[in-house]
Amino acid sequence: MSKDEEIKQRQRLSSYGSYRPEKCMICGTTFQDQRPCNSHSIPQFVLKSLNNGASGNDKSGQFYPLNSFLQIPWVNKVNGRNNTGTFSLLCKKCDGSCFQNYERADIYTKSLLGNANLQTILNEIAMKNYLYSYYDAKKTIARIEKELRQEETSSFTSRKELNRRIQILNQQLDAETANAKDSFQGFKNTCSIRAKLQSKPSTILYTVDFYHQYNRLFPLAFQGKITIEYDCWGNHINNLFAFDQATQDMHLCIFPIRGTTMVLSFSRRKDKKIQLIRKNLNKKKVDETAKALTAMAMTASGNFAVYINTPESIFNNQYLRSLAGETGTILTHTYTQNNNVSPSQAQKLAHQSVRENHITGARKHLADYLKIPNKLIGLNNV
Ligand SMILES: [Zn+2]
Repeated sequence: MSKDEEIKQRQRLSSYGSYRPEKCMICGTTFQDQRPCNSHSIPQFVLKSLNNGASGNDKSGQFYPLNSFLQIPWVNKVNGRNNTGTFSLLCKKCDGSCFQNYERADIYTKSLLGNANLQTILNEIAMKNYLYSYYDAKKTIARIEKELRQEETSSFTSRKELNRRIQILNQQLDAETANAKDSFQGFKNTCSIRAKLQSKPSTILYTVDFYHQYNRLFPLAFQGKITIEYDCWGNHINNLFAFDQATQDMHLCIFPIRGTTMVLSFSRRKDKKIQLIRKNLNKKKVDETAKALTAMAMTASGNFAVYINTPESIFNNQYLRSLAGETGTILTHTYTQNNNVSPSQAQKLAHQSVRENHITGARKHLADYLKIPNKLIGLNNV
């Protein structure tokens, strides 16, 4: 693709704008007189810590996003702190009041697991993760709808080509609609868990699957939900083609803070399949576990921020590039609580949801998780 085409594609995509909700997802206040808040799904103090790096003197405020591995020419190669992992779905009041526990930098110490508010902290993280995924899907839906409108009035392509484009866009639209529904359902679940915890704070609804504080900075930060078909050890976790099953999600935080890196993964206590992952996470050496979790995160989510002074060779690593490519081929499923999707429709949707037209090779890539370079988990020897 030439530079000119690249610029055109960039301009075309940015002209589509973004998704703007009508009301706050939490309290329902309409956004007539105010704009939705720019919420962060990776805490600001983590990004600042990552920004400073080991030398403690980088002031660029910039990060490499997952696209630095994918290297799609018209997608940003560098992001600033204010557009790294952000979503706009909440009013300022809810954004400021609903995540107070998780946004305290001082709780991420060795005593986190003993914190009396641990369940609330985990619930706040899970809520952010579902909101981020929901926003991501809604943004894509808004873009596809605009593209569809433009294609329908386009006079430059042949009728056959036009029909093919419209068909692909419609398939992507169906897939993203299913994604949005799943994330919305996950969000609703976290709302009811929140209510339960408020009335009875001692209830245990989440299980910590892995927790370790590494005495070094990782050159990356991550936060998100991980929904996978197979884990790194070949365990079958979700049947992402099954339309009538809710997924079992794992939540992961990789937070470089003050010269250390906290890696935390957790899941809902009732999601028993995650136990299969937990067993392996705790059986391995902690550096191997960090690699396994990073690999699973790279196949399942794009919510990464990579330290700006990371050497270029990392982004050309073929293994990492294939792992990152799997986010474009995330399988999703069409679980709807009200069952208003017929089985045949749902099956069709599930199959269409293999984005970018490729069946995922994630299982094989995940089994090779030890190929993650040491540098990516903060060890100096490559
Ligand atoms: Zn609100």
